[in-house]
Amino acid sequence: MSPFWSPLVHQLAPYVPGEQPKLTHLVKLNTNENPYPPSPKVLAAIQAELGGDAARLRLYPDPTATALRASIATLHGLAPEQVFVGNGSDEVLAHAFMALLNHRAEDGSARPLLYPDITYSFYPTYCRLYGITPQTVPLDERFQIRVDALIATARATNAGGVIFPNPNAPTGCGLARAEIERLLTALPDRVVVVDEAYVDFGAESALPLIAAHPNLLVVHTLSKSRSLAGLRVGFAAGQAELVEALVRVKDSFNSYPLDRLALVGAQAAIEDVAWLEQTRTAVMRSREQLVAELAELGFDVLPSQANFVFARHPAHPGAALQQALRERAIIVRHFTRPERIANHLRITVGTPAECAALVDALRQIV
Ligand SMILES: *Cc1c(COP(=O)(O)O)cnc(C)c1O
Repeated sequence: MSPFWSPLVHQLAPYVPGEQPKLTHLVKLNTNENPYPPSPKVLAAIQAELGGDAARLRLYPDPTATALRASIATLHGLAPEQVFVGNGSDEVLAHAFMALLNHRAEDGSARPLLYPDITYSFYPTYCRLYGITPQTVPLDERFQIRVDALIATARATNAGGVIFPNPNAPTGCGLARAEIERLLTALPDRVVVVDEAYVDFGAESALPLIAAHPNLLVVHTLSKSRSLAGLRVGFAAGQAELVEALVRVKDSFNSYPLDRLALVGAQAAIEDVAWLEQTRTAVMRSREQLVAELAELGFDVLPSQANFVFARHPAHPGAALQQALRERAIIVRHFTRPERIANHLRITVGTPAECAALVDALRQIV
């Protein structure tokens, strides 16, 4: 606290990212990074951009990211004007909150933003930052998103928008594309943002719905399925009018959110479809084995379509399990709130060797 702070700063509730430990011997299964390296073409593209010396770094990067946006558009059958890129999808999401999800009624009262009660914990942080009123909608007893409840609550509260991850985080549960379409059709005058950070690990993407639904914005990241958490690239796709709103906010904030190395590296990653296919298949295979082994140890494991599993053991509190794993040099994520998930652990799917180390440790603990 300081008198130098702008009043807003006193109100913020910053997001706390998962630990990035300095110790290198740990089995790190806490922040959903990909256990496999990015496509070798990413490194080649970055080296080519540097061209043996760093002279090109004198020059600003392309502020419109034309080549990268064209690659993303081609991959997903979109027009380049339907694609926006940013410095990680967290930045893309932040711009979406400001540009598309902050609405007031004619009498000046806030129109809330709806999201599930158990979801990505950056959403409440952005609400504080931008002065948006959040309205949570409970998941059902099986931790699934209830589209009927979202529709009813949106109408009852005059909500200004809806956001959720698909698959949801930290549950890993996916929502069928037909259900998302039902939501878009029921709420045609509100923006629905679908945060598809984990969609490549087995869920149905909403991208094919963009053509018919001007109220849909789909957000992707290269941090998870493309193994590039360290490069910081994310994108949004939607009809050109929605994308234009994001561009207006971005160009009021930072003209160059992606540097030269990120632009070429991301483009190489997007274009190496075979690498994506190979690595995500390996992760999904490890996930199925991990789910089976955890179930054998007595865990309740939610069905996951992501690169992590969300599990609890009926006889062991979540905090104690996390601590016992840590003592064995394995780190996983544990959320103390909401209470309903206080005994769950969110465990990133690692390599087969990392998964085996986890299962061995849990076998000793439980
Ligand atoms: C990891 C994650 C992101 C953020 O990804 P970055 O592109 O690394 O900023 C966004 N949404 C959800 C649900 C995530 O889990």
